[in-house]
Amino acid sequence: MKVSKFEIVPLATEVAENARRSARDGAPDHIISVVDSPEIAPCRHCLRWAEPGERVILFPYAAIPAGHAYSEIGPIFVHADDCPRYSATNEYPAAFRAGRAVRAYDSRFNIIDAEVADGDGAEAVIAKYLSNPETAFVHVRSASRGCYTMEVQ
Ligand SMILES: [Zn+2]
Repeated sequence: MKVSKFEIVPLATEVAENARRSARDGAPDHIISVVDSPEIAPCRHCLRWAEPGERVILFPYAAIPAGHAYSEIGPIFVHADDCPRYSATNEYPAAFRAGRAVRAYDSRFNIIDAEVADGDGAEAVIAKYLSNPETAFVHVRSASRGCYTMEVQ
């Protein structure tokens, strides 16, 4: 199944920069660490796995803003140093095909469908959800840890 029209929405640069500033200021909920093995710390800004030796910040992010039944704050990683925001927004980032949970939300931020997708399945599930007129946006998360990966519109 080929995905027709979608747009990947990486983490806003402003959010990444705020996290870097908070980490530098010593905010207790912003943890800086050096990655020691591959494929453990996905950067939500450039949408690639941080490589061993790279510094990352772990901090809480409100993937669904406060004020809704499905409001959710959870931990995400960004590179501790500047990185380019993912720009191939009409291409699903290849690094995050496996082990993803896909959730469809309506315009009132309610979950209307969700499933775990692997391999190219993630794109097929996204296409299916986006073809539903009720779907306002789709969130992709880690299937194992539940952490937010990206939004797709
Ligand atoms: Zn990055």
